[in-house]
Amino acid sequence: MWDFETEPEFQEHLDWVEAFVKEEIEPLDLVWGGLEFTPLDDNRRRAIDPLKQQVRERGLWAAHLGPELGGQGYGQLKLSLMNEILGRSGWAPIVFGTQAPDTGNAEIIAHYGTDEQKATYLQPLLAGEVFSCYSMTEPHAGADPTMFTTRAIRDGDEWVIEGWKWFSSNARTAAFLIVMVVTDPDVSAYRGMSMFLVPTATPGVTIVRNAGLGGEAADEGSHALIHYDQVRVPAEALLGGEGEAFAIAQTRLGGGRIHHAMRTIGMCNRAFDMMCERALSRETQGSLLADKQFVQGYIADSYAEIKQFRLLVLHTAWSIDRYQDYRRVRKDIAAVKVLMPGLITNVVQRSMQVHGALGVSNEMPLARMWLAGPILGLADGPTEVHKVTVARQVLRDYRPSDDLWPTEHRPKKLAAARQKLAAYLELEVGNL
Ligand SMILES: Cc1cc2nc3c(=O)[nH]c(=O)nc-3n(C[C@H](O)[C@H](O)[C@H](O)COP(=O)(O)OP(=O)(O)OC[C@H]3O[C@@H](n4cnc5c(N)ncnc54)[C@H](O)[C@@H]3O)c2cc1C
Repeated sequence: MWDFETEPEFQEHLDWVEAFVKEEIEPLDLVWGGLEFTPLDDNRRRAIDPLKQQVRERGLWAAHLGPELGGQGYGQLKLSLMNEILGRSGWAPIVFGTQAPDTGNAEIIAHYGTDEQKATYLQPLLAGEVFSCYSMTEPHAGADPTMFTTRAIRDGDEWVIEGWKWFSSNARTAAFLIVMVVTDPDVSAYRGMSMFLVPTATPGVTIVRNAGLGGEAADEGSHALIHYDQVRVPAEALLGGEGEAFAIAQTRLGGGRIHHAMRTIGMCNRAFDMMCERALSRETQGSLLADKQFVQGYIADSYAEIKQFRLLVLHTAWSIDRYQDYRRVRKDIAAVKVLMPGLITNVVQRSMQVHGALGVSNEMPLARMWLAGPILGLADGPTEVHKVTVARQVLRDYRPSDDLWPTEHRPKKLAAARQKLAAYLELEVGNL
């Protein structure tokens, strides 16, 4: 069954979300932009807690989770439709309890955590009371996790972690870190690495500095260089089994990548709306920008590219709901990841261009949005690596030709066709 329509009841929710984000959340972006992952002070709590409460009352809190974890079990497709609205705003995912990287972290604790770990880490995370950090990349290795060297050595009932991690987002405000380390260097990395849940306040967790993203002031960064300096954690800090880190990482990244893609649609739609409004508002050399063919080209290309990307994201989300198995949808998740940076870069850049100097200024949000292009070409793995995944997965469905010539080689196919139709061709002798 094919259907491109949204159920009317859920459409009502989406209409509510759209108005709520515009009226109640976008002002937070303007006044408290950049403080999304800073624990609430009394002032902000007074403004934001009632908004979260409205989201809960509407049954839209933490929509990525099933009912057993306090969500509604809407699934990935409906989450996509919501996230493409939430992606227009920095604060919206926080107010709806669906912000990265906490969503992915919550999913793996829910999946692999013990009851005690769920009570200690998952419950406060789901309540929106704490933030979390995923600490995997190292200063000397990112895209290739088999090169990680941060080590945990068992010492009685404890593990001692030693090593360095880099670009651990939100570590400075997170209550706990999920750290990927080598626990057995004598087997392959795929079986010798494990995940640990480490409270950020544990002695030895040293945030050396916080790197910022292009243009951010030096003290504004939130991507930590961390020295795990002989950090002692109890044996119960192990998340999942020993040697299961790769499997856990795959579970986490499958969901996280598609959630980024859903929010990307929202961001691109916002840049596109700005471009169209500006094209209809600004005149130069005797006509509106909207009447210039170059600008029409920007609008047409952007419209088509966003629409194409959205259909792929929605279809991928639908496939995840249908098969309940990220591995089965890996090819399409990787394809989405391949397209995402280029889409943002192109659409946002065209919108900036149409706005002229205003577009690149800090009086518009576009320059900041544009940086999301290169960022999403790296975060959750570089585009090149995802291209390799797509190609490998695609090629699994193909076989080499069984002789020297390709299957579609015309002389070979023609000979086969003649043989098949020989009985009729005999009657046509003279006409060939
Ligand atoms: C905004 C942001 C937030 C992040 N948050 C986190 C976080 O919270 N926790 C965390 O652990 N990490 C985080 N990261 C790090 C991210 O996961 C890494 O940047 C990513 O895995 C790439 O690693 P790298 O930066 O070391 O690049 P490298 O591994 O050095 O790769 C550099 C470049 O080499 C090329 N390359 C790499 N591999 C291949 C290949 N197989 N084939 C062809 N070319 C290749 C690509 O051009 C790639 O961009 C974040 C990154 C960003 C930008």
